[in-house]
Parts: sequence; structure tokens; C-alpha cells
Amino acid sequence: ERTDKKAYEEAQKRLKMAEDDQRNMLPELRKRSRYDYLKKREEEKLEDLEAEIKDEEYLFASDNMTERERKDLEYKRKLRDLAKEYKKAGAKEHEERKNRYYMPEEKRSKDVPQRDLELEETPLELGGEQGRWEEERLRTAALSFGAKRERELGVRQEQERYQLILEEEEMIDFVSTAITMKGTLSEKQEEPTLSQADLKKQSIQEVRRSLPIFPFREDLLRAITQHQILVIEGETGSGKTTQIPQYLMEDVRLHSRRNEIGCTQPRRVAAMSVAARVAEETGVKLGNEVGYSIRFEDCTSERTVLKYMTDGMLLREFLTEPDLASYSVVIIDEAHERTLHTDILFGLIKDIARFRSDLKVLVASATLDTERFSCFFDDAPVFRIPGRRFPVDIFYTKAPEADYLEACVVSVLQIHVTQAPGDCLVFLTGQEEIEACCEMLQERCRRLGSKIAELVVLPIYANLPSDMQAKIFSPTPPGARKVVVATNIAETSLTIDGIIYVIDPGFCKQKSYNARTGMESLIVTPCSRASANQRAGRAGRVAAGKCFRLYTAWAFKHEMEETTIPEIQRTNLGNVVLLLKSLGINDLIHFDFMDPPPHETLVLALEQLYALGALNHLGELTKMGRRMAELPVDPMLSKMILASEQYKCSEEVLTIAAMLSVNNSIFYRPKDKVVHADNARMNFTVPGGDHLVLLNVYNQWVESGFSTQWCYENFIQFRSMRRARDVRDQLEGLMERIEVEVVSSLEDSVPIRKAITAGYFYHTARLSKGGYKTVKHQQTVYVHPNSSLFEEQPRWLIYHELVFTTKEFMRQVIEIDSGWLLEVAPHYYKSKE
Ligand code: ADP
Ligand code: MG
Repeated sequence: ERTDKKAYEEAQKRLKMAEDDQRNMLPELRKRSRYDYLKKREEEKLEDLEAEIKDEEYLFASDNMTERERKDLEYKRKLRDLAKEYKKAGAKEHEERKNRYYMPEEKRSKDVPQRDLELEETPLELGGEQGRWEEERLRTAALSFGAKRERELGVRQEQERYQLILEEEEMIDFVSTAITMKGTLSEKQEEPTLSQADLKKQSIQEVRRSLPIFPFREDLLRAITQHQILVIEGETGSGKTTQIPQYLMEDVRLHSRRNEIGCTQPRRVAAMSVAARVAEETGVKLGNEVGYSIRFEDCTSERTVLKYMTDGMLLREFLTEPDLASYSVVIIDEAHERTLHTDILFGLIKDIARFRSDLKVLVASATLDTERFSCFFDDAPVFRIPGRRFPVDIFYTKAPEADYLEACVVSVLQIHVTQAPGDCLVFLTGQEEIEACCEMLQERCRRLGSKIAELVVLPIYANLPSDMQAKIFSPTPPGARKVVVATNIAETSLTIDGIIYVIDPGFCKQKSYNARTGMESLIVTPCSRASANQRAGRAGRVAAGKCFRLYTAWAFKHEMEETTIPEIQRTNLGNVVLLLKSLGINDLIHFDFMDPPPHETLVLALEQLYALGALNHLGELTKMGRRMAELPVDPMLSKMILASEQYKCSEEVLTIAAMLSVNNSIFYRPKDKVVHADNARMNFTVPGGDHLVLLNVYNQWVESGFSTQWCYENFIQFRSMRRARDVRDQLEGLMERIEVEVVSSLEDSVPIRKAITAGYFYHTARLSKGGYKTVKHQQTVYVHPNSSLFEEQPRWLIYHELVFTTKEFMRQVIEIDSGWLLEVAPHYYKSKE
């Protein structure tokens, strides 16, 4: 019996290890190739399964096995066999996939594509329940394009037509799961169906009156008068963000002109774009009565009564006004996003609402988990705006897509040539991807010329100039189809009318934080099911829509998390801890968090702040810490700026800080002029490293008289430079308050590099036999190929940030002397010895 128990424990341990391993698979995801990732997972699952069976066979070798246990084991064996078979089938399919790229000519000539036949068979899926689930769905599948049944129903002609445009092999097989996201309106219902042309004809006031929130205006205002804290839930596009603040402005009961209405947004773009829209609706100039405030950019005035702002900005306002006395209403919008700053605001605002009985607090959220908000705010009532939504049919791919960018392009064209009119929204993870996708689409359209109807391709992401952003809202020309390629911002923050089709590759860029190593990284990960459903919902705003998911139904059910983990649980808390400490909140463990951050993350943040000299050994804010908190930048960057005082190089360090904060958008590298651009970039190289290159770029731009022409000639993005100048001006303005004299270093770059080291000594890497390793955790890292030090390989480096693309790259690095480390952070490096 004893041995059994031991063996059992062993088995348990092994299972746990397998689980941990799976969790550590995250780097796999970075490869972006869902196909490879899934294949690997499957193989590993098979191994796990084998191990499990072996364990159980061993454990239950004796005959005291219950009937259920025996059945269970039997089941697992069956599963294993299935999995093996599946693996074989998968390998075959992979071969076919490979082939299709090599022999398009040959395959195209074939009459019946082989893929259709596969659908007749019962697909083999790994795993029991999931397999059966998908199997069932597939059987009920109303097949979309590329399917045999439909062709038999006479769609053949159409099929042939678009074969000219898309090669058969290239087309994506979608299966409908017969799952439709329920709408509250049926397809036939006419009521809110407004065609683009109608919308255009409507006056702004008419549009306002047509929004779902409008009939509830009075009820809502009454509820706000009656309750101090109100949670408002409503479908995206119902008018929460643009209308509620206007209703408040119009209501004298709720709003006296002396106080402001603040409305927070998780993203800069949303704050700007929504403010612009509301200014237009109210007929005022942006920045007068209606304005916005985002970091390094304040577009408000004395007259401003309604201020849209990022959640981070409101958080900083607590520093100057701990009771938010100048506000009569605070709206925490897009609360469901649960950004770090929104979560902290929850705690702080709940606290001040207790003694500021005149303050109204509104928590606005998309239809997601609003009960939790209500619960957190002492059972505040929830005001539900009944949604208007049309049903959305959801399609999945039959097999995982190897390259989702390519798959997006193909899907857009597939929709364009096979589907009824209606605009299309594609979700990608970031600027680079979006630009690539738009380029690919435009290129394909150019080649097809008049063979297809016009396709208007429009990007939207945070760094896009605002005039370009505005374009996504303009109506689609008759006969054309609009494709908006967007980041998560189009998930709930911005509503684009006229969308009927949504393409969702199922990925998003997410911050993740390793509290053990203190490494923060932005990586592309599968999005959550909640996110995927929000995305799908975008297709059902004006009519019944379709959502094409570029992943399998199985992946949706088993690979995706239910909801997105709140940012507070996956980010560095240095900034927030510093802020809370300067608000006098010393006991962070007992702060009223909706979801508390992991303990080790808090401890690490405290440790880092201690190492930076912002906290003393009792965990209290030092004078240095107080000064650091004054700057609206990361603690390490703050420390770098403050250290520049000692090294008499604050001029240069301010410039570097500003250039770093417009990060990675300085150099412009058009596809057709790569060589020119790279040469231009090389011309800026100076010894020492990338920070000094950035400084050099900025200084030359100053010498050119801030010239646009100069930027153009040197492949520098003027917009980014202008922003860097604004940031620099702002930071310089703050120097007086924190008593740093702005002086220039007259020597070489050593003082500058020392100041950088003083802030970033946590980010030290050292060259050893196998390449660079971080000093703190011996993690292998690489110099980014864009770096001026890429070929030099100095022994000691400081990096600004780590990014994961294909590898762990250090971005923006400088060379340092290891002796400086002890000089700039004696208490940190001494304790290491
Ligand atoms: P919610 O916050 O509930 O998601 P919004 O207040 O953001 O809804 O949007 C309500 C409606 O206002 C949208 O459906 C859209 O019709 C319109 N709208 C919002 N912003 C713009 C804009 N920049 N241009 C044109 N219409 C807009
Ligand atoms: Mg909104």
C-alpha cells in the first residue's frame, strides 16, 4: 500500500510538472505560428497521455480497480490511439499544405478540390469531449464557401468567378458551427437599420436621437440623481461614451458650471477621437467646453466643462488634488477593460466618494461582468441600456492557419468577392502588422484592377495621425467596400458604423510580466473568449453580420482563456506603487483592489523602488522618491533624469528621455527605399550606443531649424520628432519643480551614459561565452539588429527595454563600464556581492 501511495504521489508530481510546462509554453506563442504551436501542444499532450496511462496501469495493476476507474483507463487508451492517428493525419495534412504553395498550377486545374471530401469524413480530433463537440458541430455545419454542398446548390458559377481572383489552394475553408451570437433584433426587423446613405443624410441631432441610449435619457439622469455611484452597462455603440457626458452637461441638477465632468478612457486615441466627436456634436471648438487631456498633451482650457482623459491622467491628478475637488462627476469608462490605471482608480475613487458625498461616480462598461463592478462599489445599482444587436453568424477555420496575416488578406478578398455589400473590420495586434496587412491588400487590389469592386483599405492604431484616424468614420463610397484594419481599439472603444463582416485572427498584443525576473514584455498572445465575442459583436450593429474566426472551434473552446486577465496581475507595478506612496497610501497590501496583484509583484516593485532610492528601508518615500513621482514617466526614466543633475548633463538626458518615449517610430523605412533608409540611419551613428544616436538625431534636427525637409531627406518621421519636442518641453517645464538645473555636458558621453546607468542598472547585460545574459537573472538576450551596437558586441550593456519578436531582443542599448554600476547603485550592487 505504501508503494502505491508513493507511486501515486510521483504521478501527481509528474502531472503537475506537465501542467507547469504547459504554462511555460508561452514563448512558443511568440512564434506566432498557431499551427506549429498547436502541433507541438498536441504532441506534448500525447506524451502526457501516455505517461498518465502508464501511471494508472501501474497504480491499478492490482485488481482492486473500481469499475469507473477501469472505464476511465479504457477511455484514455482509446484517446491515445485516436491521438496517434490524428498525429499521422496531421502530418499528411501538413505535407499537403506545403505542397499547395509549390504546385498551384497543377492543383488549380483539378476539378474537385480534395478538401471537400475531407468534410464527409468524421474529423479526428485529439481529446474526447472536445473531439465530440467539434465533430457534432461539423456535422451540423452549414458550410460556407469552398464547400461541395453549396456548389451543388448552384453556387458553382460564383465559385468559378472568384477562382480567378483567389487560387483555390489559397482559399480558407470556413465551417459554421451553427452557432449564432444572439441578437436582440431579428434580421428582418427594419427599425434601426440605417444604410450609410441614410446615416449621412441624418443630421447630428438625429443621429443622437437614434442611439439606443436616447430613450433612456430621463431614466438615466434620474438614476444618477438618486445614487452616488452607478454602474452603466450597454452594448458597444449604444452611446455611453459620447452621450452620457452630454446629458450631464445639459442637466442643471447634476452639473453646475463650476465643476468639471471627467470621463476616462484606457487609450489615448479613444480620448482624442471621442472628444473630437463630442465637440462636433455640441458644436464647440475642441479644447474649449469639450477637451481632452492625455500624457504630454493637454487640450483643455479655462472654459472646459467636459474633459475626456486617459485613466492614467486622472490618476496623476490625485497628486495635485487628492479629493478631485474640481470634478462634480467622474465617469470611469470602458471599465471592462480593467487596465492597471482603471483598477487603481476604482480603489481611490471608492475611497474619496465616502467623504465627497457631492461627487457622482459612473462606471461604464460593455456588457461584461458588470455584477463585479456593482459588488465592488458596495452593491451600486446597475443601469442596463437594452442593446440593439443583430444576430452574427460565426465561422471557424477547419484547420489552424499557419500565418494569420496572410489568412486575413485572403479572407478579406474572399469576403469581397463572395459576400453581399457591407464593410469589413479586421483585428490585428499592432501598427506593424496593420501596415503590412494594408499594404498586402492594396497590392493585391492593384494587381486585380477592375476585376473586383473598389476596396477602401483603412488602418487604425494608436500612433496614426488624427486626420487619418478620422477617415475610418467617413461613409463608404457607393459600390465600394470599406475594410478597416484595427487594433483592439475597435473592440469596444471606437464604434465604426456599417460593419457587417468581422475577421478575427484571435490574437492580441498583451503585456506580460514575470515577477520572478522583473521582466516586462509585450507579446502576441491568443485573446480571450470574451474579447473574441466582443469582436464578433462589431458585425451586428447595423444588420445581421458574419464573423470569420481564423482559428478552429476547438481552439476557441480549449485554447482561449475565458476572460482577459486584468492588467494589474501581469504588469510591473513600480509606477503605481510610487504614485500610491506619494498619495500617502503606505499599506499597499491592504489597498482596496478589485483583484489584488500577485504578492511577489508588489514586493518586487517595492524592492526596485528601494534600489532606485525612492523608498527607504522602512518602505517610506524618500525625497528622491517624491521628486521621481513628480515626473509622469516610469521610475527608471525618472531616476535617469534626476541623476543627470549630478552628472551635469540634464540637457542631453532630457532629450534622450523624450526620444525614448516616442519609442521606435523615429526612423522611417519605406519598403521601396530600404537601402537609402538604412544608409541614412547609419549616418547618425555615434560611438557609445543607441541613446546617443537618438540624441544626435534630435540635435541635428534642432540645427536644421526643426525642418520637415530635413526629416524627409534623412528618413526621419517628422511627426515623431515633433512629439519628442513636445515631450521634451513638458519635461523641461517640470525640472524647476523638482529643482533640477538644466545644463549641458561639455565633456564626452560618459556622464550621459552614467546618468542612464543610474536609472537602468536593473537592465544590465553582460557578454559571456554563449552571448548576452542579463546580470540579474542570467537570461539569454540579444542585441536588436537595428541597434548601432549590433556588430560591436561590447562586454557590458544597458538596455532600455526587452521585446520579444522572434527572440528576446534588447532594444536601445548603450555600452557601459561595469565599474559604474557600483558608483550609481552602491546599495544594490554591494548587496549582491
Ligand atoms: P459606446 O460608448 O456605448 O460604445 P459611443 O458613444 O462611443 O458608444 O458611440 C455611439 C455612436 O456614436 C456610434 O454608434 C457612432 O454612430 C457614433 N460615433 C461615435 N464616434 C463617432 C465619430 N468619430 N464619427 C462618427 N460617428 C461617431
Ligand atoms: Mg464607449
